[in-house]
Amino acid sequence: MNELEHRLEELERLGRGRHTRMVSGPQGPRVLLDGKPVLLLCSNNYLGLADHPRVREAAADAAMRWGVGAGASRLVSGTMTIHRRLEQRLAAFEGAEDCVLFGSGYLANAGAIGALAGRGDTVFSDELNHASIVDGCRLSRAEVVVYRHRDVNDLERALRRHGGSGRRLIVTDSVFSMDGDLAPLAEIVELAKAYGARTIVDEAHAIGAIGPDGRGAIAQAGLEGEVDIAIGTLGKALGSYGAYACASEETIRYLINTARPLIFSTAPPPPAVAGALAALELLEEKPHRVRRLRSNARVLRRALTGEGIVAEDTEMHIVPLIVGDERAALDLCEALLERGIFAQAIRPPTVAPGTSRLRLAVMATHTADELREAARVLGEAAQTLDLDPSTASAPFDGERDIVVRRAA
Ligand SMILES: *Cc1c(COP(=O)(O)O)cnc(C)c1O
Repeated sequence: MNELEHRLEELERLGRGRHTRMVSGPQGPRVLLDGKPVLLLCSNNYLGLADHPRVREAAADAAMRWGVGAGASRLVSGTMTIHRRLEQRLAAFEGAEDCVLFGSGYLANAGAIGALAGRGDTVFSDELNHASIVDGCRLSRAEVVVYRHRDVNDLERALRRHGGSGRRLIVTDSVFSMDGDLAPLAEIVELAKAYGARTIVDEAHAIGAIGPDGRGAIAQAGLEGEVDIAIGTLGKALGSYGAYACASEETIRYLINTARPLIFSTAPPPPAVAGALAALELLEEKPHRVRRLRSNARVLRRALTGEGIVAEDTEMHIVPLIVGDERAALDLCEALLERGIFAQAIRPPTVAPGTSRLRLAVMATHTADELREAARVLGEAAQTLDLDPSTASAPFDGERDIVVRRAA
């Protein structure tokens, strides 16, 4: 057996093997999964805009007007008018001076972190930050100090002890991707000011989903203009692909001069940009989608509570069902699939060992009946498997695959 075979076998043995499933047709609230119709309960297409007729039309039209590809990095072959149009629209939406697009959220985090921190600097990072932030920290070559999840006391301790003479940067998800809880943004901004640190807030799961008219967690906390860089993706609620950073005009100019994923990667394709622009317009015209997402979240959470699965009675659209080990999460996922519901099992290294889960994600385009039925089926499947899923945000203890220093 060769080395890769060995490693793959080991992953399977641990219940961590990954296989993608085949979806026929668009990513709607129901999909044909490996040929079988199922309710999709794990997509980040929160507002159901990925296949909205106006969004599709905008993308198709953009392909005819501007072509499919941008041809090169914008620093080489130029910014296309459609890029700039979306940037201006996003800046206005976020209440920021300016905005710049990136190829994806992953690249935006790598670019923004690398621009604001390098060798000799220190990044303070929440222990449950998204993998793209973790990787951005690594690429930056700054010293990385990980603080306990949402723990501002731990963050302050870390700020007091680390950072010396270099630049300091605090980086956090606003809505945490696998737990659906919120970062204490107001306190983080306050600490940043007190300790001379900059801030990057990743709104990947917040834009289009929470805050006034879906403007995110920064807007919800009344912190527009207080965060150095707000990152958002076009790939989730905005139904497309790509990402952006919103910041002061000076910071955006700095990103254009220093963010390597922007400088050394092809600009986003016109159809994806135009699709996101149409989605943003829909969001601004019809914020009822956001209200629908929230009320759907409440419907699912209440129905889960009715099944004895304790879900907090909030409007957060990400609902983690933590079952513990990898195998249990996979079994529950398969049992649900047999019953017509698709909620992918999430396992290490995406989440900490012992906290494998189904991460349920509500969409605005689900019906309340579909969600109630899903909760009933979930309760039944969990009982059949003798599982006791919990929706409590699990304490993170032990290292994920992060090679960084925990705050001393
Ligand atoms: C999905 C996600 C990203 C990556 O965004 P893409 O556009 O999909 O690359 C970044 N940060 C967080 C918190 C995410 O959940």
